[in-house]
Amino acid sequence: MTPSKAIATSLSPDTPTYLVKIFGKDRPGITAGLFDTLAAYSVDVVDIEQLVTRGRITLCALITAPATGPTISGTNEGALRATVHSWAESMGLEAEIISGTGDNQPRGTGRSHVTVLGHPLTAESTAAIAASITATGGNIDRIFRLAKYPVTAVECDVSGADTAALRTALALEAARYGVDVAVVASGLQRRAQRLVVMDVDSTLIQDEVIELFAAHAGCEAEVAEVTQRAMRGELDFEESLHARVRLLAGLDASVVDKVRTEVRLTPGARTLVRTLKRLGFQVGVVSGGFTQVTDALQRELGLDFASANTLEIVDGKLTGRVTGEIVDRAGKARLLRRFAEEAGVPLVQTVAIGDGANDLDMLNTAGLGVAFNAKPVVREAAHTAVTVPFLDTVLYLLGITREEVEAAEAAEPASSPGEDGKQQAPA
Ligand SMILES: [Mg+2]
Repeated sequence: MTPSKAIATSLSPDTPTYLVKIFGKDRPGITAGLFDTLAAYSVDVVDIEQLVTRGRITLCALITAPATGPTISGTNEGALRATVHSWAESMGLEAEIISGTGDNQPRGTGRSHVTVLGHPLTAESTAAIAASITATGGNIDRIFRLAKYPVTAVECDVSGADTAALRTALALEAARYGVDVAVVASGLQRRAQRLVVMDVDSTLIQDEVIELFAAHAGCEAEVAEVTQRAMRGELDFEESLHARVRLLAGLDASVVDKVRTEVRLTPGARTLVRTLKRLGFQVGVVSGGFTQVTDALQRELGLDFASANTLEIVDGKLTGRVTGEIVDRAGKARLLRRFAEEAGVPLVQTVAIGDGANDLDMLNTAGLGVAFNAKPVVREAAHTAVTVPFLDTVLYLLGITREEVEAAEAAEPASSPGEDGKQQAPA
């Protein structure tokens, strides 16, 4: 072993450096070949970025100027340029060497992650989003694809813009172009998110459970009308809950089992929960619906927390009343706090997902509130909105890639495949 050099302090801004850029058809050995070529000049590596898109490699290396090695006309620089170009040519690659000084330019203050979900993602919407980031004072430092299915999801690392200003500006473009844009502040908080709490009706499941009960009681139209008015925020939730449950009085308790079998999970629900559990998240649900259904979902999905209203059953019949503490708009936010406390997770590390007006307090209490296929009043008030009907797209907002999700699925296949809506990727 050679004696180690003194630990270098950060690179002086005056130190001559070269950016070496290689582009062309990817194949094994390119990275090793480039650095092997550079090694003849004893240069230090300051930064490396490499990516491969459809078989084409872009490799950028920022290196210190050569101090030793072969020379041409008395300089190492000319020799290094000639050697790199000759190596690249032998490999059928293009090379560019740009001289300068020091490290990369320092990034602007303020860091955000901008996730764009498109279905499809068009050039037009991408142009509008990029222009809007620039107009807000931001610079896109890096863009990469998180997923190609069921939506095209890309994440942009942005510096130099205020996260809240960026969120406001991009929300306008998102609405205009029919894409979803989520803006979150960068930093350790995002990596440390540890608890996800979801609404149930029209979020975790596709149905409104009370409407399933109403179908058995023959009062669907009346119940649906009250539900819609409550979700639009036109009716107090507790009043509307009592009014709707009253319509179910006298219904046979055996209907509870039927309703449980009628519940349809939202596409991506199982993938979302399973992936979150694998990542060590705790996952809970809060529902203005009923424990008779949420308890079964909790068992089936292995949820850590569940809370809902309970339909009172006496002598084998629904009484038309609910028992216990009512889970309403304020109750949902209260339960999020309670779950977070029990899980030992600060609120800033929680994520809440919901679609209705009664989810708003919960969405705004969480560190990240996601409006999922929500009514406009909810979408406008939440941190971020998803308008595609796949629950696992929420994973992309947390920076988790489709590839990571699929690798985890392949390593530990689901016990009940094919039940997760229409989530089978085309072959
Ligand atoms: Mg709901």
